Amino acid sequence: EISSTRPPLRILLAAPRGFCAGVDRAIRVVEEALRQYGAPVYVRHEIVHNRTVVEQLEAKGAVFVDELDAVPDGGHVVFSAHGVPKAVPAEARRRSLLYLDATCPLVSKVHREAERHFAAGRHILMIGHAGHPEVEGTMGQLPPGAMTLVQSADEAGTVSPPEGDLAFITQTTLSVDDTAEIVATLRQRFPTIGGPKREDICYATTNRQAAVKAIAPGADLVLVIGSPNSSNSQRLREVAERAGAARALLLPRPEMLDWADLDGVAVLGVSAGASAPEELVEALLERLGTRYALSVEERRVTEEDVVFRLPAPLG
Ligand code: SF4
Repeated sequence: EISSTRPPLRILLAAPRGFCAGVDRAIRVVEEALRQYGAPVYVRHEIVHNRTVVEQLEAKGAVFVDELDAVPDGGHVVFSAHGVPKAVPAEARRRSLLYLDATCPLVSKVHREAERHFAAGRHILMIGHAGHPEVEGTMGQLPPGAMTLVQSADEAGTVSPPEGDLAFITQTTLSVDDTAEIVATLRQRFPTIGGPKREDICYATTNRQAAVKAIAPGADLVLVIGSPNSSNSQRLREVAERAGAARALLLPRPEMLDWADLDGVAVLGVSAGASAPEELVEALLERLGTRYALSVEERRVTEEDVVFRLPAPLG
């Protein structure tokens, strides 16, 4: 019988993993907009960085666009969870588009922090990764020149902001450890710099990184379900390697699993980025179960109960 010949594979499932409250809300915004206004509902940028989510919403009538130019007059448009520069809602109003903002409330909170520092006359050091939509959205809250991007501890050591008061803010999905190092460097160079008590990294990023740290030591391989353009998923992969996993790989979809990667693997860690649906974890386990006799053990480091309400027009 085939099943008795399957080799054993021990799976350590990180918890919490997968969807955060901001992603869950952003998807509900698009679904609810489709329900209330009917298709098509336009969505500027990937609502969250996950192809499966995007394709499921497309099947329901969402149309993803890069810029507002692609939205016809009178159309409904949703802004993604990552946030948008101020110029985007301004342009939507100018064109009388009906827009819904699915920006995660924890990203909006950073936007308000930036405005507060700016109003107090402080130059802002934004810790984050160039080109990520959240960074573009946050830096786009203020006029050009109000913020300087700091991407690494090296850059924190060399950045030369204008004279005067300083503050820092951060992207929400950074590596907790790298950011602590960057903030320490900034505080050492600029002892009066203002900022949040620790940083602006959100609860979901923090918890998912802690959970991966709990499964990585002793794992022969850690698979993180997530897209290459998902910042928090990339960080989970790095955290797994640094925390002692022999290897860690990003897996955009379970069907992309390369069986050769499992050669010699006895203990497999599994997690999922904040934009990856749990159904992908289940599909991965199902796929693994066709070749291995699985023993699955979940390691939960904390419980989460964060839920965000829908924006006013939908709520
Ligand atoms: Fe919000 Fe954090 Fe999720 Fe980003 S990762 S959408 S900041 S809860």
